[in-house]
Amino acid sequence: MTGGARTRKPSPTVKSGADDPNPFITAVRTVRSESGGLLDLMVVRPADFAFVVVEAAAGDPDAIRVLAALETTVKRIAAAPRRSPMRCVACPQPLLKKTIFSFCIVEPSRANPTSGLVVAVCSRCATTPEQIQEKAVTALRKIWPDLSSRPIEVTHPTGGRA
Ligand SMILES: [Zn+2]
Repeated sequence: MTGGARTRKPSPTVKSGADDPNPFITAVRTVRSESGGLLDLMVVRPADFAFVVVEAAAGDPDAIRVLAALETTVKRIAAAPRRSPMRCVACPQPLLKKTIFSFCIVEPSRANPTSGLVVAVCSRCATTPEQIQEKAVTALRKIWPDLSSRPIEVTHPTGGRA
């Protein structure tokens, strides 16, 4: 086999992130390529955290994955510099210790997804699972225009499992 003199990037994996200074956009691209556009959304409100922890401790693979994603996100929020804090996905509200916000976990709609992203929605923008989900979907459609013609599945609308 000869490789030829291709100058293209060797693989479509989103590894370097060199072109994508925003890790969120990188995550969106990864989820997008894995999902083909069909997404699962799961809303986790502050009141749902304990439930996720219990489910994860019981060995539920979905809960373990969600908990890991939430931990990463919470660390990222805490580590964000004061000058450029992470913000609500739907408004300029910075996510600080005193801010009450919920998460919406977005995953490719398939078994054992390997990618996912988490968006935060502040309590000024939304408090019910339906509102939170709507804000998340609106934001996703803005940054991911071809989603507007694709379905978004809502598998765990109330944070827990059916
Ligand atoms: Zn907000």
